Amino acid sequence: MKTFPVLGLPIHLSENYQDLLISRVENNTPTHVVTMNSEMAMMAQKNTDLATAINKADLVVPDGSGVIFYLKRRGQKQQRIAGIELAASLIEAIGKKGKDYPICFYGGAKGVSEKAAQAWKEKVTSAHIIYNHGYLSGQELDDWCETIKKVQPKLILVGLGVPRQELWIMNHRHLAPNAVWIGVGGSFDIWGGVKERAPEFFCNNHLEWLYRLYQEPSRWRRMLALPRFFIKAMI
Ligand code: UDP
Repeated sequence: MKTFPVLGLPIHLSENYQDLLISRVENNTPTHVVTMNSEMAMMAQKNTDLATAINKADLVVPDGSGVIFYLKRRGQKQQRIAGIELAASLIEAIGKKGKDYPICFYGGAKGVSEKAAQAWKEKVTSAHIIYNHGYLSGQELDDWCETIKKVQPKLILVGLGVPRQELWIMNHRHLAPNAVWIGVGGSFDIWGGVKERAPEFFCNNHLEWLYRLYQEPSRWRRMLALPRFFIKAMI
């Protein structure tokens, strides 16, 4: 597949990531998906472990208007697909296939991935979803790894935040080697009803970051990466 570098990191260019990933799930093709936004690209400039995880991933999807802008400035036309929407479309398609296609939700505060799984099961009744929260350690974490190994989910969504989730997937994908693994950030918070996604107006006008800042002011320091990315995109 054609790739294009964004700050030295490979982005895979495709017209339809969703169909590509559904067929990878159906064919048991081992896949680590990274949905890369500008904040992650900037973090990877300093965090070599994260850069390694991105370089090793099988599919790096451009997520967020910053990365799309970067590509456009370099003559690469690419439609934007938000990571959360890509993940949602896969849950819907794979969930419909029933119990032979188990899905795994891992991450979020206690009870959140459970709420997210319930919300999805109401929507896609045939979906078979296992879940756990993202603050496990010691024996609990070992048991969870054993569960993943036993169930062999076909689609594994990991919402531990960046870079934790990318590193966790890189180091644990051997548990279910033929699955499609995706880092989904705070998606369980949104599906579980704990946080709200930015209204359409913000998404359509490249202002999702502003809504996030309003929801979580403590993110301001992290978000300084965005203007820095923009400057790099302009060069
Ligand atoms: N989280 C987790 N375990 C941790 C740290 C974070 O499960 O040890 C979860 C947290 O509850 C939240 C998500 O990871 O649901 C991070 O969401 P955020 O929107 O900050 O993701 P990012 O912007 O880093 O992708």
